[in-house]
Amino acid sequence: MPRRVQYVNLPYDEDERQGSYINYEVEASELAGDDIGHTEWWIDAVPPDNPTQPPNVDQKYLSRAQRARVRNGQVRNRRERFRNRVYLPHVGGDVYKIMCNQRGERGNDDLEVDEVITYRKLFYTVHLMNDACETEFNAVKDQMEAAVDEGYVELENVTTDRTRVDEAHTRSTNALTHLYNRRPRLSDRPFHLRVVILNDIYERKTRNFNAAGISGASHTYTPTTSGGEVFHLQNNGIVWVRARINGTGPWRDVTRYATQNTDVSVTVRLTGDDSHARTRRAIADGGTVNLRFRLKVRDSYNGHSIGNFVCVRIRDDTGATRNRNGVLKTLVHEVGHGCQQAVRRERLYNANGIATGRETNALWHTDNRGGRGNHCSHNCTLVNVGSRQEYRANAGSVPCVMIFYGVNTVVDGKFCPTCLPRVRRANMNSANMRRRSWHRY
Ligand SMILES: [Zn+2]
Ligand SMILES: [Zn+2]
Repeated sequence: MPRRVQYVNLPYDEDERQGSYINYEVEASELAGDDIGHTEWWIDAVPPDNPTQPPNVDQKYLSRAQRARVRNGQVRNRRERFRNRVYLPHVGGDVYKIMCNQRGERGNDDLEVDEVITYRKLFYTVHLMNDACETEFNAVKDQMEAAVDEGYVELENVTTDRTRVDEAHTRSTNALTHLYNRRPRLSDRPFHLRVVILNDIYERKTRNFNAAGISGASHTYTPTTSGGEVFHLQNNGIVWVRARINGTGPWRDVTRYATQNTDVSVTVRLTGDDSHARTRRAIADGGTVNLRFRLKVRDSYNGHSIGNFVCVRIRDDTGATRNRNGVLKTLVHEVGHGCQQAVRRERLYNANGIATGRETNALWHTDNRGGRGNHCSHNCTLVNVGSRQEYRANAGSVPCVMIFYGVNTVVDGKFCPTCLPRVRRANMNSANMRRRSWHRY
């Protein structure tokens, strides 16, 4: 009996092998014995073919209703046919044999009705901003699909399209609808992911910066993060500039003497006829000034996900192409959020399938510990970075794809041994996907 794939998360469709249950019909002639009045039915869990495959999901993660079961343990003969239904768990990668025999003859010429491996399927449409985005996406597409497939989630690429505009830097909004105008409409919602591959994406931030002890004809200021990374300014990025002479006295507005040169710096004229008169005189007398800037900067990031929308950038904020492993990691990471990672805790059930408590994921973390959203600290240590904390990869080890950001991390775009089984156990049925807003975009 060949093993057949059943996509347990999708709505029931007999021909497409979709749905959380399967209807069976066995003819009396398929069974050993004559004049069979009753059959009995059962399910055998099939052990892995080889040691690299995991066994079926531990029953402790499944309620009674979620476990594999036959609707009727015994079925009567109706016109020489026996009809039954088998319910499958929502998990991926479980293998079952559906078995049938004449009542009382179990173990003796059993009929193997079917052999099923449970799987989940998600569809995706990808919008590529330009040829470079297409090249970078195609370079990692197979690895992205393979990483998710390890959790028994098949990604099916339904449509590939261009975005409506090509822009160097895209300002962040939830689902970036200006890039595709909700076209094409996504089929098979809430199981269809919209992926946008773009150049660069940023949030608008307005921040204050300081420079002290300045003298000379002019001062050119480059805003940087506390970690030393350069901020890029938005168009018309100067809100105001103020100066204070010799570190005392009132702050005076010198905005009109400042210009934005490149997208990374602002120059303030300090001496000369086109500078602020008091500042000019103070510097001529050997003084210094302190400057304070309020600037609108681009705070670029690698990508985000919300409901069934994911975006990933291929360039950093200087325009240089990102490392492909980085692009891969961001893609799998954001799709991983769509697959409900990282999980904070899961329900546990006793042998009878009655809820007994919850299992807590010790690796789970959120922004109170260096990272926004649901992330994983596998192979990482929490370190102080400026005024905040973040998880950094331990030397020589590879963190989980669900790590938050990770400046210095080696990445291979894979789920860690804690997250991968949880991808496998994630319930991706319609109600759960809708709860996670997968019907939205
Ligand atoms: Zn994340
Ligand atoms: Zn993990």
